[in-house]
Amino acid sequence: MSAPLHTIALDLGGTDLKVARVARDGALLEFSRMPSRASESAEALLGTLVGAARGRLPAEALGIGCPNVIEPTSGALVDETPHLALPKDFALAAHLAGELGVAVAADNDANCAAYGEHFAGAARGARVSVTITVGTGIGCGIVVDGRVLRGAWGGAGEISHMGQRSSGPPCRCGVEGCAETTSGGEGLTHRAQAAGLAVVSAREVFELAARGEGIARRLIAEMTDALGHQVAAAVQVVNPDVLVIGGGIAQAGDALIVPVVAALHRYAQPSHTRRLRVVPAELGNRAGVVGAGLMAWGKVLSV
Ligand SMILES: [Zn+2]
Repeated sequence: MSAPLHTIALDLGGTDLKVARVARDGALLEFSRMPSRASESAEALLGTLVGAARGRLPAEALGIGCPNVIEPTSGALVDETPHLALPKDFALAAHLAGELGVAVAADNDANCAAYGEHFAGAARGARVSVTITVGTGIGCGIVVDGRVLRGAWGGAGEISHMGQRSSGPPCRCGVEGCAETTSGGEGLTHRAQAAGLAVVSAREVFELAARGEGIARRLIAEMTDALGHQVAAAVQVVNPDVLVIGGGIAQAGDALIVPVVAALHRYAQPSHTRRLRVVPAELGNRAGVVGAGLMAWGKVLSV
């Protein structure tokens, strides 16, 4: 019997495609990134994906994480997503399997990151983990007893686009009072600009707050309160033992995590929070490929 190969992992974003070869234990044998061409055209995007994977064959299987809700059994997109130039309900996993001749596991990018952190990152040893990524928007993935909680159509854990009884600006998701316009990085930047701050990124809002700027401090207090409220919903529903906080804005460290945890304690019961471990993500921007690669290994081992 020949030695096991690697799996190929793709983490597709609106701008970048991250590519890795992943060992059975989640170790990365190779990692690189390239332009994803995701919004250019379906041909450009699919050509980029197939080209990146083909150069790394033979492999045991392929795992891909991407924005959008992914149908759990078929690996097809559910509806459309604004950042991907793919048709509605595109059969992503089946297309790649046909082009490459390998088994394909496809999942939402936040689910892949959560899977990576659960088995090879900050949530190792957890029974139930919730991983949130705080960036332009809010991503969330839930792993229960070693399996991603996907829901009937792949949409479980979408805490980002939940309605709140407040009157923020409309979100493109269409949910009334969507919390992400307050809790996400893009929303924070827009709110800061509307309040007269000369900033172009959420990171700059955090930098101003660190220097004591009053408006920035108030906006971050509102952001972290909204985020803590969203996370509390996940904590109440699935009762995790580990909560992982990652994403670009999590680089702010305690300036983000301390007020989010304080809000979490306001909005969730002590029975759910007392023993909850809240930890920073360990895998950084590689969580998605680690998780996608491990999911691909799961596909091989279950066959
Ligand atoms: Zn929304």
